[in-house]
Amino acid sequence: MPEEKFMQKAIEAAVQSAHNGDYGHGAVIVLNGEIIATGYETLKSANDPVNGHAEIDAIRKACQLLKQPYLEETIMYCTAEPCPMCMSAIIWAKMPVVVHAITRDDMIAEMERLKSESGGKFSWRQIAIPASEIIEKGEPKVELISGFMREEGLKLFELTGK
Ligand SMILES: [Zn+2]
Repeated sequence: MPEEKFMQKAIEAAVQSAHNGDYGHGAVIVLNGEIIATGYETLKSANDPVNGHAEIDAIRKACQLLKQPYLEETIMYCTAEPCPMCMSAIIWAKMPVVVHAITRDDMIAEMERLKSESGGKFSWRQIAIPASEIIEKGEPKVELISGFMREEGLKLFELTGK
């Protein structure tokens, strides 16, 4: 069962990222009931669209800490449904469980809102593949727990860009 205290820490990382001028995304990796890595979104502050995703940041830190390329037995808590790049990295790292708060549909709704608010100027880079589809086509299989503490996660939208 997912635990609220871990998602709370992922949310705190997301708040920190938003305060740094990045998107409000965060992630933590849990092993044996303890957080071993915290991932921050640093896309804009580090000019890094790859390692700048919170989930990738957390995976790299956890692997460096454990000195191994795989993260079996761990759980990924992230504030948003992982993008195809991050979901793929989760599979490459052999992570068995992902718990996320807001969903891809929530993000699409928010992006549509920003787009109409900006008179069509805002554009969202995306690849339209839900995490569940990557899992379906990937190996090993990952258990995906969606919408955990979603209401708290949705509040992060208010921070982005502030
Ligand atoms: Zn990502």
